[in-house]
Amino acid sequence: MTPTSELAQAAVLLRSGGLVAFPTETVYGLGANALDPAAVARIYAAKGRPSTSPLIVHVADVAMARTVVAEWPEAAQRLVERFWPGPLTLVLTKRDVVPDGVTAGLGTVGVRQPAHPVALELIRLAGVPVAGPSANPFMGLSPTTAEHVRAGLGDAVDFVVDGGSCPVGIESTVLSLVGGRALLLRPGMVSRAMIEAEIGPVELAGEAADGEAHAAPGMHSRHYAPRTPLRIGAPGLESGYLWHTTEAEAEMAVRLPADAEGYAARLYEALHLLDAAGLGEIVVEPVPAAGEWDGVRDRLARAAER
Ligand code: AMP
Ligand code: MG
Repeated sequence: MTPTSELAQAAVLLRSGGLVAFPTETVYGLGANALDPAAVARIYAAKGRPSTSPLIVHVADVAMARTVVAEWPEAAQRLVERFWPGPLTLVLTKRDVVPDGVTAGLGTVGVRQPAHPVALELIRLAGVPVAGPSANPFMGLSPTTAEHVRAGLGDAVDFVVDGGSCPVGIESTVLSLVGGRALLLRPGMVSRAMIEAEIGPVELAGEAADGEAHAAPGMHSRHYAPRTPLRIGAPGLESGYLWHTTEAEAEMAVRLPADAEGYAARLYEALHLLDAAGLGEIVVEPVPAAGEWDGVRDRLARAAER
């Protein structure tokens, strides 16, 4: 567990406009006081992130969430009772207190109570909602260890809180509840079926009833990608999911667990490892089509996009 003095120091930095990378159960976040426009601007600069990509606001509890959103529909209440703290981000109409920089100028804000005890304690100590995208350069692989953060962002971050490896391993599910409809903007380990079991039918972004593609703001076809070219290859093994490259001199394989949770937990760690090895190509065996793999499949498809 991270020493209290270190967290207290990180919380002071957050309150005074600093950038603090911190562990969550999904991936490491690059945190800044969500109510401080100058601090939020530093997030975009550090990541090289375009200002059109909104940030998720991390909160210590539901009460703090309600200080940034202007509505709290019944569906939100049901979902947070079931999934918070945890890897589900809810997009709701924002209050004026949330700066435009956090929401890319949208009238909505994404909020989430992370399940990681270090993240929760840090937000509590800071006493402010914390805007936190993944702590990596824009488009790149998300960090699941403090080492990944340091390697990717270096001096651009004021403080890195080391909380070990992130247990969920891929970014949160993002669900919009704006305008009385439930729209899945980004799949994750809280699956569509899990959400539907609580609140009924959920639409998929890009599968809107009127036939129009509803691209989620800040979602890019290429994202979550290693520098090494990645392609989804034909399965060639009896079991498990193997990562490998065929480059003769530097062949290397990483085998991941065959269940979605275990696979997600080690996905980025494996990609960081392979990406650092100077290989010609990373080939990934396709993963199952089942719903619990939606988040993993989404990240792999974006990582493979050129
Ligand atoms: P990241 O912080 O990199 O995990 O990405 C956060 C993602 O959450 C963005 O790429 C958006 O897809 C989504 N998001 C955050 N805020 C909003 C919002 N107000 N409206 C729609 N999507 C959002
Ligand atoms: Mg990211």
